[in-house]
Amino acid sequence: MKHINERHIYDILSEAKAPSRERLNAILAKARSLTRLSMPEAAVLFAATYPEDINAIFETAKYVKKEIYGTRIVVFAPLYISNLCANGCLYCAFKSDSDVVTRKKLTQEEIAAETQALLKMGHKRVLMVSGESGAPCWEEIKYLTDSMGTIYSGVYGKSGIRRVNVNSAPLDVEGYKKLKEAGIGTYQIFQETYHEETYRRMHPYGPKSDPDKRIEAVDKAFIAGIDDVGVGVLYGLADHVFDTLALLMHVEYLERTYGVGPHTISVPRIEKALGAPLTDNVPHAVNDLEFKKLVAILRLAVPYTGIILSTRENSEMRDELFTLGVSQVSAGSATSPGGYTSEESNGHAAGQFELGDARTLDEIVETLIAKKTVPSFCTACYRSERTGAKFMSLAKPGTIKGKCRMNAIITLKEYLDDFASKEVKAKGYKLIKTLGGELEADEKKAMSDILSKLENGARDMYV
Ligand code: SAM
Ligand code: SF4
Repeated sequence: MKHINERHIYDILSEAKAPSRERLNAILAKARSLTRLSMPEAAVLFAATYPEDINAIFETAKYVKKEIYGTRIVVFAPLYISNLCANGCLYCAFKSDSDVVTRKKLTQEEIAAETQALLKMGHKRVLMVSGESGAPCWEEIKYLTDSMGTIYSGVYGKSGIRRVNVNSAPLDVEGYKKLKEAGIGTYQIFQETYHEETYRRMHPYGPKSDPDKRIEAVDKAFIAGIDDVGVGVLYGLADHVFDTLALLMHVEYLERTYGVGPHTISVPRIEKALGAPLTDNVPHAVNDLEFKKLVAILRLAVPYTGIILSTRENSEMRDELFTLGVSQVSAGSATSPGGYTSEESNGHAAGQFELGDARTLDEIVETLIAKKTVPSFCTACYRSERTGAKFMSLAKPGTIKGKCRMNAIITLKEYLDDFASKEVKAKGYKLIKTLGGELEADEKKAMSDILSKLENGARDMYV
């Protein structure tokens, strides 16, 4: 597979031995200084198996997460626009030979209705998801850009969706340029597995069966000028340690080539999917401890890259992973086209996979607040052109931290005022008061001005 040297990964793995206490402490001290780890260092952490060593890794991940992201978690919702698909991915309910899902490509009117449903819940960030229909590229691109336009034009009260991220099949450079013109936030594409032989087995036919075309989609997105790109592994297809190291190799390649790595990394674990028997017997199932460990190691290896978790995970696992390094989470999700507006396809029966966490957005906001974690609906960086290398240059010295902290409070206040239930409002306002007290003096002054403008009906404010 292009950009991935499997031999080198196996060499690193064969040299990585369970670390002595000194070696472990040295690696964790480096991570605590918010310096990214090398692939061999990450491999050594994977080789650590004593409970106290794993605990030390977790504690360090919690520290790094808190230092860089504070106690914030960015909240978003997926919006599935089409499940038409020409591929045969063995793990997905949308694969073309499956007759258990009703095929649907939403019209622009239906997408507008889905957007309204999300706006009414209080969402501001959407991840637009679609199958790979096999239609000519120009037709696919037009459908994607029209759909983005529809989502951006939805209004509820004084608010609309402020950031549309896209997870789609590979496009050509021209196609990515069109997504950029249409105002894309992050473009996501997961390699699924970096293990070439496994990749080919899992994707037996269709355009996705070519692993090089898949991995080069990320290059094309960068070349087209999309500088916030998200990558990911579908955990369970191949050995999780191999795939995590390969993911880090991909990150290193992107940094070397484009001067900036991915904006986000997604960590889906395979969930049961109708009509996809492979999901009943996941070939390299990752258990909960292994999963927490890999999230923690990713947090240490690439401290400034966002880690995204979806509703594939159950509520207990999600709650634990928030502190270990996850920085973005989906909430109140449906995984079928039309899932937010139709009774029948409510995200379970006709969805892409089973949801592990069926809590509403309000319930997730409540859980986060109870954990003193701040649900953030912030979209400020992308709208202030703080993306790609510019974002990283502000993030690394910690310059962005104060802004993030303030924007999280501002967007939480908006959510509470407009959408939260009575109980959540009370708990949220209390948290805002506490957080306000922790701001620097100049921030306190700016925050009190903004909060009074919000009280007077202003919306969509950010610093
Ligand atoms: N069709 C496009 C593609 O495959 O890149 C984009 C949409 S696809 C629905 C988004 C992601 O869903 C895939 O990249 C894959 O990682 C994930 N996915 C598919 N089946 C899954 C399953 N059974 N459990 C968890 N995630 C799954
Ligand atoms: Fe189609 Fe994407 Fe599902 Fe594969 S993962 S079957 S490409 S929707």
